[in-house]
Amino acid sequence: MIPTPAVEAIPATTPFIGPEQLMRETHQHDLVRLGANESAFGPSPKAVAAMSRELPRLCWYGDPESLDLRDALAGKHRCDPAQIVVGSGIDDLMGLAVRAFVAAGGTAIATTGTYPTFAYHVTGYSGRLVTVPYRDDGTPDCGALLAAAHRFAPAVLYLANPDNPSGRFIARSEMSSFYEELPRDTLLLLDEAYADFVDEAELLAPAFEDRLIRLRTFSKAFGMAGARIGYALTTQRNVQTFQKIRLHYGINRNAQIGALASLQDDAFRKHVVDETARAREEYYRLAAALRCGCIESRTNFVCIDLGSAQRATGVMDELLRRGVWIRKPGAPPLDSYVRVSVGTQDMRAIFERELRAVLDAVSA
Ligand SMILES: *Cc1c(COP(=O)(O)O)cnc(C)c1O
Repeated sequence: MIPTPAVEAIPATTPFIGPEQLMRETHQHDLVRLGANESAFGPSPKAVAAMSRELPRLCWYGDPESLDLRDALAGKHRCDPAQIVVGSGIDDLMGLAVRAFVAAGGTAIATTGTYPTFAYHVTGYSGRLVTVPYRDDGTPDCGALLAAAHRFAPAVLYLANPDNPSGRFIARSEMSSFYEELPRDTLLLLDEAYADFVDEAELLAPAFEDRLIRLRTFSKAFGMAGARIGYALTTQRNVQTFQKIRLHYGINRNAQIGALASLQDDAFRKHVVDETARAREEYYRLAAALRCGCIESRTNFVCIDLGSAQRATGVMDELLRRGVWIRKPGAPPLDSYVRVSVGTQDMRAIFERELRAVLDAVSA
């Protein structure tokens, strides 16, 4: 059957090939999962307990308003629950934002090679994507993004801070002038998937304005990627827009319960953040020992420079063959890097052992 013209026009690109598919393709039963920045520390034990207790009630739909969770989030962010919308992860909310704010043929701007789901949705909703390269050090180029925004007057500008795949972080003062200097009619879609790894005071100051939507998730520091739950912080007016198009029973009931319990266990989040910082230092030391460059990261992953895109791809493929799954950025100037999630101590030890073996083989 031929789909509608709008769907027919979507290129058959898949933003992600999952580790399960890679296992099937390489005939492996297990992989050391360091490719998707999943938390190796798991969800909070309190979240696991709360979700386990409630499992028998999985016959019920979740509260379509996610009100208990939104109340707790409003406490955390010192805002009104009416300024929060819950979705099944940032990826879901990003699609709704694009659908709501980028008209067919309308323009959106993002960094070339940044987290791919935004571009995927813009294409899927027939928008026009303009991309701006990273600076040479892998930081999103705020100056060039601003120039493009003033030139193209986009409906939406997407920025991830901290960024994925670079791990770079734009400090509050620079973010604040960036936001102020954007055209007034441009919506800043600020992806803060890694916000929980930095201090709240380092992030763009809280602002509830129609031209700002901040996206947060329980997938990373809270270790609940498989539960699929995240939220947007914005104005009541924008929340009402989301209300018109979101899937009202699209949130897993168990995820609502686990997310709420996670928020009540900040000690666990702090533990994850501390362990993650230690692990990043370990990767920096490994990169230095291997005489490779690396990018200082504010996330739960680190990019290591292997000198060329070809070598980085070769090393990534060989690591996969040896049961270690990582990813690599696709676009210059980051395409000579591989990106590795922090993992547990054991996972890092395997990564180090296999990386050293692969590099020895490559240079031999
Ligand atoms: C992991 C990640 C996401 C996905 O978040 P979900 O809530 O799991 O959909 C979005 N943006 C960035 C930058 C990420 O790294």
